[in-house]
Amino acid sequence: MAPMTSSARPLLNRRLAEFGTTIFAEMSALALSTGAINLGQGFPDTDGPEEIREAAVRALRDGRGNQYPPGPGVPELRTAVAAHQQRWYGLTYDPDTEVLVTAGATEAIAATLLALVEPGDEVIALEPYYDSYAACIAMAGGRRVPVTLRPHGGPDAVFRLDLDELRDAVTDRTRLLLINTPHNPTGTVLTRDELQAIADLAVERDLLVVTDEVYEHLVFDGEHLPLASFPGMRERTVTLSSGGKSFSFTGWKVGWVTGAPALVNAVRSAKQFLTYVSSGPFQYAVAEALALPDSYYEALRAELRAKRDLLASGLARAGFSVFRPAGTYFVTTDIRPLGESDGFAFCRALPKRAGVVAIPNAVFYDHREAGAPFVRFAFCKRTEVLEEAVQRLTAPAD
Ligand SMILES: *Cc1c(COP(=O)(O)O)cnc(C)c1O
Repeated sequence: MAPMTSSARPLLNRRLAEFGTTIFAEMSALALSTGAINLGQGFPDTDGPEEIREAAVRALRDGRGNQYPPGPGVPELRTAVAAHQQRWYGLTYDPDTEVLVTAGATEAIAATLLALVEPGDEVIALEPYYDSYAACIAMAGGRRVPVTLRPHGGPDAVFRLDLDELRDAVTDRTRLLLINTPHNPTGTVLTRDELQAIADLAVERDLLVVTDEVYEHLVFDGEHLPLASFPGMRERTVTLSSGGKSFSFTGWKVGWVTGAPALVNAVRSAKQFLTYVSSGPFQYAVAEALALPDSYYEALRAELRAKRDLLASGLARAGFSVFRPAGTYFVTTDIRPLGESDGFAFCRALPKRAGVVAIPNAVFYDHREAGAPFVRFAFCKRTEVLEEAVQRLTAPAD
């Protein structure tokens, strides 16, 4: 029975009404009920380094982080985050005033948007976008302005940002640019020229930039360049990252924000009333993870690159047109060569038809029709799981 309300007013408020249950819930349920291989949601099916798991156990046993850790995060982790930005990008951040620990990058996104966006402000986001961006912009009362990444065909097909379109999207009401590189779901890694153009635009129009770099260590072709490293950007950029993807512990939810003191302060104001603090013992473990040697990061990249190649070539053999991702956990495909055009219908039918679950990219679009023929598969799974998925997808239909 529906709960009683004093009027016919819907329970879910107007800001969130358009965000029903996520597609991931529907597709994961479908995977369960059909026994299909779930390449929908992006989480690894093996855990990260044993020594980092042990570090978490040690912290828990030693009573470090079992009670409320400090609001900005434990000093060990803030110092490790600052050292990481220095080590990989030559960016200097003060662990005390320019680093904030969050409950995953998800809370970093929420807190940043709630802190910086005034109702009515426009927020430009790259479309297709990570699903929480739209919901958090809405919760902040902002208006999202999508700029669509478009597929460029050919043997090296990729999605690219149209810089003129980005420039044209900026108005007097634009508060910030919400960037994501490496980009989920397309796997696009923004190039130096593209990032320079974004930086030039931000400086020229005096915009804040929020950049989600959770896949910073999962770049297979080219290199990850943080937007904050471009001239004029450090003081206007909030950089978000997380230990989930870099260390294969997506359940730990340890994320962080780096930026100039005024920006980090603003984000902390919102963050303190969302979770206050989180992930106590895991913060110590992620601090140790960030200090792992280069060989760890190289091995992670090599392993995922091989999985990307396995799945991408398998999908191509199965008849999909494949956008080879330069980074992330995901490969986006075009289903039109299979004689299909509706990614939703395709993904709802795929578990029964082939025993595999994928996600329709349309859920990441405002312009649903622009995303209709695209379908995303995750390759952060064990090799034998990917091989079995490819086998199923390439088997002749009965
Ligand atoms: C996975 C993901 C996140 C969420 O990171 P958590 O640390 O798990 O909260 C944020 N942004 C993008 C683009 C992601 O793919």
